[in-house]
Amino acid sequence: MNKMIAFFSIVCITILQFPAAFAQTAWKGKRAAVVITYDDAIDQHLDNALPVLDSLGLKATFYITAGSACVANRLQEWRRVASTGHELGNHALFHPCVGNTSGREWVPKEYDLSQYSIKRMQDELRMTNTFLHAIDGKKERTFAFTCGDMKIGDSLFLQGMQQDFVAARAVRHAIHPLHAIDVYNIDCYMVNNHSATSMKEWVDEAIEKQGLLVILFHGVGGGNNLDVSLLAHREFLSYLKQQEKQLWVAPLIEVAAFIKKQNEQ
Ligand SMILES: [Zn+2]
Repeated sequence: MNKMIAFFSIVCITILQFPAAFAQTAWKGKRAAVVITYDDAIDQHLDNALPVLDSLGLKATFYITAGSACVANRLQEWRRVASTGHELGNHALFHPCVGNTSGREWVPKEYDLSQYSIKRMQDELRMTNTFLHAIDGKKERTFAFTCGDMKIGDSLFLQGMQQDFVAARAVRHAIHPLHAIDVYNIDCYMVNNHSATSMKEWVDEAIEKQGLLVILFHGVGGGNNLDVSLLAHREFLSYLKQQEKQLWVAPLIEVAAFIKKQNEQ
């Protein structure tokens, strides 16, 4: 009888352990996935972030506000960013944000999302896709919600745009395992003068939870109030490189396509 109990215990433990074993290799054989994103297309991305990424061989996603001065002034450099394996994502033409709430006094009235119609926003996003296609020749695109805003009034403006976007990134601190990710509402950790130590803890948490960590940088050594020091940025990226055996680091479009495929099975 004791032998029978022992046998069934071993069977049960083996079955229970199987999902954990699977999850350890769920991200292309790695324990976790990391996506590095940079928002708003500013000079510091080209001057400060890109050289570090390229020296480490890491590929990132740059969310481009097509109407920004840096895009107009340095178009060929952005084209080269795309041709070297980084992703150019859609961050709208004019970066509209909901302006009629407290703390949003800085939003120009011309680009106050609360004054947009759904059609105007969708037209702006589709025009940005066309613009980016002219830059990198790609048809598939991911989107990052400007200021994290998803709605105009009560309406989700991305609804009905699944043909236009493979995935969309929101702005919320959370790490989820593969099966729990909504690719049209992907969470991310926004960097706001964080130390390298804090950012490394996010990576450790992703490894621990066997989930997806998306990092959002704005300024890199300046260029935005939401900034990261050059030193912390470099130290953080170097840490990702050091953890390469445990991490799959890739642009969002690749990770989102992988998530969709896995979750369909
Ligand atoms: Zn932005």
